[in-house]
Amino acid sequence: MDTKDTFERVFSVGGSSASATCNCGRTFYNSDGGWDWEDGELEGLAEDKDATDIGYGVGLIEVNGRTYAVDCDCWHSVYSMIELFIDRHAHQIAEYLKLEKKRKIEEAEKSATVDI
Ligand SMILES: [Zn+2]
Repeated sequence: MDTKDTFERVFSVGGSSASATCNCGRTFYNSDGGWDWEDGELEGLAEDKDATDIGYGVGLIEVNGRTYAVDCDCWHSVYSMIELFIDRHAHQIAEYLKLEKKRKIEEAEKSATVDI
């Protein structure tokens, strides 16, 4: 497992589906596996030049509010930028998360409560 695998695992939406369209507009689908297709849907995908039959369930990852097909390569440049930032600023990110956790706990402890 390399860092890209870890990134994919952590940002995975979970599960898989018969077909999905990536953020870039390319569609990926699985012609195997006994999915329920609408009449002509699978044939339409097979004829679509922007659709790729990957032969297994389509996995998704979500980064910055955008959903990407795991099998698409368009998210690799997004991953590279984020991975580089994380790698170069790991200690600052850890400190940021620690301080933000402390701040949020203090803020929650100051919030109004209702005795029941
Ligand atoms: Zn894509």
